[in-house]
Amino acid sequence: MSEVQDNAEPIIDPREERVRSVLIVGGGSAGWMAATMLATALSKDIKIRLVESDAIGVVGVGEATIPPIKKFNRFCQVDEQAFLKETNGTFKLGIEFHNWGKPGDRYMHPFGYVGRELDAVVKLHHWWLTGQLAGTTDYPAWEDMFVATAAARENRFALPVRRPNDPLAKFAYAYHFDAILYGQHLRRIAERRGVERIEGRIISVNKASETGLVSDVQLEDGRKLEADLFLDCSGLRSLLLGNALEEPFDDWSHWLPSDRAIAVPSESSPHGLSPYTKGVAHTVGWQWRIPLQNRIGNGHVFSSSFSNVEDAERRLLQTIDTEPLDTPRLIKFQTGRRKRLWVGNVVAVGLSAGFLEPLESTSIHLVQSGLEQLLDLFPSRRMDPALRDRYNAQVEREWHQVRDFIIAHYKLNQRDDSEFWKYTANMDVPDSLAEVLQLWREHGILGVDGGHLFQTGSWTSIFYGQNFSPRRPHALSDRASPDAVAADVRRIFDEVKLAAQRLPDHSEFIGKYCASPQAG
Ligand SMILES: Cc1cc2nc3c(=O)[nH]c(=O)nc-3n(C[C@H](O)[C@H](O)[C@H](O)COP(=O)(O)OP(=O)(O)OC[C@H]3O[C@@H](n4cnc5c(N)ncnc54)[C@H](O)[C@@H]3O)c2cc1C
Repeated sequence: MSEVQDNAEPIIDPREERVRSVLIVGGGSAGWMAATMLATALSKDIKIRLVESDAIGVVGVGEATIPPIKKFNRFCQVDEQAFLKETNGTFKLGIEFHNWGKPGDRYMHPFGYVGRELDAVVKLHHWWLTGQLAGTTDYPAWEDMFVATAAARENRFALPVRRPNDPLAKFAYAYHFDAILYGQHLRRIAERRGVERIEGRIISVNKASETGLVSDVQLEDGRKLEADLFLDCSGLRSLLLGNALEEPFDDWSHWLPSDRAIAVPSESSPHGLSPYTKGVAHTVGWQWRIPLQNRIGNGHVFSSSFSNVEDAERRLLQTIDTEPLDTPRLIKFQTGRRKRLWVGNVVAVGLSAGFLEPLESTSIHLVQSGLEQLLDLFPSRRMDPALRDRYNAQVEREWHQVRDFIIAHYKLNQRDDSEFWKYTANMDVPDSLAEVLQLWREHGILGVDGGHLFQTGSWTSIFYGQNFSPRRPHALSDRASPDAVAADVRRIFDEVKLAAQRLPDHSEFIGKYCASPQAG
């Protein structure tokens, strides 16, 4: 026997301390995503139940996503065509921002890679900047280096091809869908995989006196639901983590002052389905436009410190481009997050964990990512503190990264038409963001790590789109003359445009691939 084996502790059989039951509290998108993912990943011996109250209902918004959601679908074996058909879903190639630099400005944050890099060392955004020095009059915009932008501008879409050198392999996509139908679709999948749904309203959360862990939740009708592990997916109420465990809330409203949204659906556009979300800045806050197969989702995010509800509703109704299908609905929120998302035997996922406005459609992603990390660090019944601490550190890092990315949009505005925009342009930002902005401004280098949800394509789109150019391109770009680089940039622009023209119309593609019976 080797020395290592002599000293080794006996391996503990994981079945001895296994979590035997999980209770998911809440059946919104977060709850049913959790149920689907846990039912796919956990041993069949673990009982998974979900409790929700029809009388309380779900928030029912959250209709735009980002590309990593495809990983969730792959892992949970969610069939893309069936899911889009059942949720009135459409495809999303990025977000088109209006009025965010100055009123009248417009730029795209496209998903995926630039059409072609010029050089293995110096990234294309430096060359693009170098080419600008040539001063050619019809120099392409930075966003025009992306196939996703070219396709979005012409309302075209098909799935990316698998040929690595083809520009049509270089875009990524996500989805728009009806949030209520999404929850229902996942519910059907999760129930087929053995998740038990319990209808009822929780009136109290009880803790075991000796351990401090949550022992059960009690329903209005007297039933008590016990579990080893609780997932708090109870929405903005944060029943377990916020109310029962009183985990403090880290308020970020000084950086993101919006605290209200008014949402209204409207009729489909006669001009077809655009494969992108729109984010249009107003004098206070901004407005989303999300095209679904059977309607458009619209909503206006604003700050009650800078606008009253009546003015916000007027702004929304004046700027939606089709007839409203319902009366506008007001949703109140507070931006920030609970300091720790895993406390004892409770893990909060979704709105119970915190809220970041939907400017970059990141909340559903944070649900997915929280669940992925929970599986990665899945505890035993001992609720191992080392796993918990690592989880809390990892999810905190991701929330901070997303927060900084969203704040950057506000900080980099050049509007002076309202106190709201003047406030956000002049506010101090978190140190982590200040460093990123400084390095970019001086050198065009992106100071975020490889694990950041948003990489170079995303940050450069926001920076160039909002007129925040570096003072100098990369030092190694002195190898080439600006005229030669400008000609190369022009060639990439032409290639990308031609490639996008090979794609079919987005509405046509949906008609063949995933048409919903409710689509007009
Ligand atoms: C205005 C707005 C726009 C958004 N847009 C986007 C977007 O475009 N993209 C994106 O990714 N995200 C978006 N989000 C976020 C997204 O909506 C949420 O992240 C997602 O829907 C998850 O919500 P949830 O499941 O945590 O909460 P909810 O949908 O509120 O679900 C909470 C659940 O808990 C249950 N519950 C609560 N209390 C009790 C009780 N006492 N007893 C029993 N059950 C209870 C409820 O019945 C419900 O089932 C948006 C959010 C808002 C507010």
